[in-house]
Amino acid sequence: MAEFLTTNGTSYNIEKIIIDAKSELILVSPYLQISKTFFERLKDASNKNVSIKIIYGKDELKPNERNSLAELNNVEIFFFKNLHAKCYFNETKMVITSMNMYEFSEKNNREMGVLIDRNSDRELFDKAVAETLSIIQSAEQIGLRETIRPFFIGKKPLESKNPQIKKNISGYCIRCESRIDYNPEEPYCGDCFSVWFRFGNFDYQENVCHSCGEYEITSMNKPQCYRCYMEHQQELRRSK
Ligand SMILES: [Zn+2]
Ligand SMILES: [Zn+2]
Repeated sequence: MAEFLTTNGTSYNIEKIIIDAKSELILVSPYLQISKTFFERLKDASNKNVSIKIIYGKDELKPNERNSLAELNNVEIFFFKNLHAKCYFNETKMVITSMNMYEFSEKNNREMGVLIDRNSDRELFDKAVAETLSIIQSAEQIGLRETIRPFFIGKKPLESKNPQIKKNISGYCIRCESRIDYNPEEPYCGDCFSVWFRFGNFDYQENVCHSCGEYEITSMNKPQCYRCYMEHQQELRRSK
């Protein structure tokens, strides 16, 4: 019999599905954010030669997430734009739930889920597997070559007179990595900025380059990695 799950039960069972996977792991979740815990679980599974398929549908993978995933063996990533379902399974257990993948280690929302055991609910289990495979078939496979983001492509100095150009430039929040407008003077997203602002420490250490999104030690004072900083200086000089 399928079993009803609340928030805690849902997180617990998603994690257990990842840990217990022996040969196959399929994770379907519109929002994909690779937290440290989540990445470590995936890494363990990949080291056990589990074949991992991740299907997501919103956002763009951040450069660091892409690079992390590229380190793993046996991982295939698929993008399906209209994905709204959330479903996680290995060979024997499945959770269908409202919970997005990245939320399994957080417990802020009220979620519900259903745990399905293939041994006792084979028909139900197999129907959900078939639906997932059908989604994978119409999804686009995402290549995981390790890419260092091309620096400053299409980026113009901030004082650009053309508002259209200014709009299209994007950078990364130096704390949470989300995409924000490119502006080395405002390298935080709104949420992170309001947290930063309480202390207002210009040298507080962050981990992401505002320009290229790679892991680098940065701060409000120095929001870019050295390479991006040099590029930025050159751009400024050129525009003078
Ligand atoms: Zn942020
Ligand atoms: Zn950089």
